Amino acid sequence: MTPPESATHLYIAATDGVATDPANTSSGALAAFHDLAPGLEDLAERSDFCAGSTLTRPRPSPCLRIIAAGLLVLTDEDSALCVTVADQGSPIPSRATSGVWLNGGSILEIPAARVVEGYGASVALAVLERAAALAQAAAQSELVCVVRHTATRRLSRWLSQIFRQTDTVTLSQADLARLTGLQRTSVCQAMATIQGDGAVKVARGKITLRDAGVLSRLACDCGGRACASEPRLLTG
Ligand SMILES: [Zn+2]
Repeated sequence: MTPPESATHLYIAATDGVATDPANTSSGALAAFHDLAPGLEDLAERSDFCAGSTLTRPRPSPCLRIIAAGLLVLTDEDSALCVTVADQGSPIPSRATSGVWLNGGSILEIPAARVVEGYGASVALAVLERAAALAQAAAQSELVCVVRHTATRRLSRWLSQIFRQTDTVTLSQADLARLTGLQRTSVCQAMATIQGDGAVKVARGKITLRDAGVLSRLACDCGGRACASEPRLLTG
């Protein structure tokens, strides 16, 4: 039997560029589930991705997928607006979501059936429900940001998150417009402001961090998980 397309999936992303122990990375990526299912990482299959590659839609069976490393930009295909920069430990909603890797990364995938075998049905359900809740919270945060904040503040927050992992990212303004769902003109105006204030330098499709403090002051404070762990984002 083929499960319906709407079957629940969980994705988790991980960061790359640093030599890490895959076992430790996997354990860290699944930290949000350790209280429910300790050792869950032992059931995971790991897939690695290059920068610029796209996240393929999940196979049509219930599955937990979580980012173990890297930065994955997720776009809601229905609204083309809701964007999350998913990093290690981020659950990725499966439906109507596409993703592009900003840097190399990897995903842990655990079929729901394997979680049931290992921990029982009630624990498996709790794991999947928590993953769905985390993904929904991230998506809602982005939607609120779209309504409340300017393109400049939103892009600044987005870049702040990216620059926690790297000092340079290869992204054209066309890429930014496509990934964020913003109008190209809005992206151009916002990037002109961000660059004019000295936060970043933009050249030949690359965006380079110049002043993290300035970028933080320009950024909104949406995205509770990321901002809560980065007090510097709350100073502006
Ligand atoms: Zn915001």
